[in-house]
Amino acid sequence: MATMNCGRALTAGRLSHFIGGQFVDGGGLTLENINPATADLVNVVPVADSVVVDDAVTAARRALEGPWRRMSEQERACVLRKVADGILRRFDEFVRAEVLDTGKPASLAAHIDIPRSAANFNSFADQILTLSTESFRTATPDGAGALNYAIRVPRGVIAVVCPWNLPLLLLTWKVAPALACGNAVVVKPSEETPTTATLLGEVMHEAGVPPGVYNVVHGLGQDSAGEYLTRHPKVDGITFTGETKTGVAIMKAAAEGVRPVSLELGGKNAAVVFADCDLDRAIEGVTRSVFANCGQVCLGTERVYVERPIFDEFLAKLTGAGAALRMGDPFDKATTMGPLISKSHRDKVLSYYERAKAEGANVILGGGMPELPSRFNSGFFIEPTIWTGLREDAVVLREEVFGPCCHIAPFDHEEAVIMAANNSPYGLATSIWTENLARAHRVAARIEVGIAWVNCWFLRDLRTPFGGSKQSGIGREGGVHSMEFYTDLRNVCVKL
Ligand code: NAD
Repeated sequence: MATMNCGRALTAGRLSHFIGGQFVDGGGLTLENINPATADLVNVVPVADSVVVDDAVTAARRALEGPWRRMSEQERACVLRKVADGILRRFDEFVRAEVLDTGKPASLAAHIDIPRSAANFNSFADQILTLSTESFRTATPDGAGALNYAIRVPRGVIAVVCPWNLPLLLLTWKVAPALACGNAVVVKPSEETPTTATLLGEVMHEAGVPPGVYNVVHGLGQDSAGEYLTRHPKVDGITFTGETKTGVAIMKAAAEGVRPVSLELGGKNAAVVFADCDLDRAIEGVTRSVFANCGQVCLGTERVYVERPIFDEFLAKLTGAGAALRMGDPFDKATTMGPLISKSHRDKVLSYYERAKAEGANVILGGGMPELPSRFNSGFFIEPTIWTGLREDAVVLREEVFGPCCHIAPFDHEEAVIMAANNSPYGLATSIWTENLARAHRVAARIEVGIAWVNCWFLRDLRTPFGGSKQSGIGREGGVHSMEFYTDLRNVCVKL
């Protein structure tokens, strides 16, 4: 039986689940949340068993009978803005928690993760107020006609399953629209990064989100909290961000009960750099897209194609930029690259580094583990790495590595580079670098992805559709597309 604590996310180094507006322990088993920069313990995390998950889903269902669903959209928007304000008021605390869980530089968490998490709540508060539906006057044989119109109703209880690379940002990207639409959510954050989702429970409570509308359960995926949640028959919809193979498992779970899924999955994204690009801008953008967050960004670039006349210069400059990255204390302003998330993920990325060599790559930069001051030597740091010379069918060019690495290949013709970029089972994102406007539009339309950036990367307008093609996902979130997933559309037909 779950026990209640005094109402804080973290008590004596131990995190809690957040269920029905209360921080609760429970589940028996625990996990150790490890700081990837030092391998030190951050906190101990309870693992939800099926009873705890059922408690959370039941609390969410009960909340749907309460005030949340009956509130006007204006009232809900007002509460969501208070959540955004609450995150910003506790900005430093959120930054610190995200840095301890992920090891990413505090400058990155302060620039991207936390402000964009608050922005998610403000943006979807705006969007719920402008959401419209269609209506039709319908002719009838008696001449009086009928009026058809549509209303949007909340889907119900939404399961939100999240990864570790941008923990609070990706969680709020789903939670904010789900709540704006009047749903209740049960969130399962990644076992690697459980803290900010839990802290958000305090913010939700302070902002006046009714008990049970936002719930958090901790644990692993398969045969654990993630699977119990996604298989739970009282969950009405599932939104997931993570690996493609996990997406497949979740889609199978969702088939039982015919529940809708929104899947944001892996990628193997190409950057295409034409000789007529603004080279400095392209180097700056590709450096970020390859190495930001230690390469652990789903939208990041792992394949770079550069038009032959500038290939050597581009390679030299990108290598210089990679070599200039500074690893170490994430709280030091001079640190520009953190560690990988865990030892097991580093083992995986290192296995690709070895595989690249075995497949005949020229290792232009990195390829191994760095030497760091003793405090950080136990962390899961890895060298930024650049390869050339691989064949297009090399495993390292086919599979998502999710580390700070890329392969750079020259190309001669636009048509050939489009084919190369599309030669992947994934279709998440691309970035195209050219000063030729006609070419930019032409190539952007032909690369098979959910998002094509031109002369930029990771520039987001939250009203735009976001998601992946091919094995990078199903559905789109963002703007009205999120609202479509988090609501059910009902047609009302009135005979006049
Ligand atoms: P993951 O799939 O291993 O785990 C994601 C979440 O799913 C975790 O909370 C995990 O506990 C849970 N989970 C695992 N197995 C499950 C199961 N059988 N049933 C239910 N839940 C389960 O992904 P990860 O390693 O945390 O994240 C990295 C991956 O996420 C990369 O592939 C990356 O490309 C992808 N990603 C995609 C996007 C996007 O928007 N498309 C964004 C960020 C990350």
